[in-house]
Amino acid sequence: MALEILYALFAGLSTLLGGILLLYTHLKKVNIRYLTAFAAGIIIATAFFEMIPEIKEGASLAVIGLGFFVIYLLEKIILIHACKEEECTYQYHNVSWLSLFGLTIDNFVDGAAIAAGFLISPLLGLTITIAVFTHELAQGLSTAIIMRPVYKTRSIILALIIAAILTPAGAYASRFFPELVFKNVLAFAAGIFLYIGASDLLPEAHEKFNWKIVLSVVIGALFIIVTGMFFE
Ligand SMILES: [Zn+2]
Repeated sequence: MALEILYALFAGLSTLLGGILLLYTHLKKVNIRYLTAFAAGIIIATAFFEMIPEIKEGASLAVIGLGFFVIYLLEKIILIHACKEEECTYQYHNVSWLSLFGLTIDNFVDGAAIAAGFLISPLLGLTITIAVFTHELAQGLSTAIIMRPVYKTRSIILALIIAAILTPAGAYASRFFPELVFKNVLAFAAGIFLYIGASDLLPEAHEKFNWKIVLSVVIGALFIIVTGMFFE
């Protein structure tokens, strides 16, 4: 098996691991928020300091915006479907399967981004793998939180397995992309990373204020910046 697919498999399995952590252990809510904050720091720093600098040449920076708005619209279209009135506060259980759909698309792009990163340099591939691993752990956890009131444990696990498989599937599929596309895949993924980090994970982590949450975000970001500098 090619190395990038192995990395993508490992990163994708963290979606499942996040779900298992929630379903089979007694994680405290505050600890989940520390993890979410750490993942936000990692994913935002990876987009800004590792991915975007790599795509200056060979990709259109506008594709970053495209990734951002596509995932934004996808998330909101899911909510519009669940909302029967003009305005509503959404109920988790209405959107659980649809939000799972959003998660699977994100996982597929994550996998393609890992493979595209490896083509540019092994370090970039590894950094993106770390970013995918940590944010997927947080995503798997929060998806399990959303699904738990409505679905049996077995169904949740099955759904997360499907989502997890899509990461190596994305890495594999990227073999068939023309070379010209790779840096644009990274740009698109960077846009998704920025949206998920700043608009999903950060507000979730800051649901209640606590300075240790801020610290977790900063540690996550510094981890990426320092390892990037070290290896350069
Ligand atoms: Zn992801």
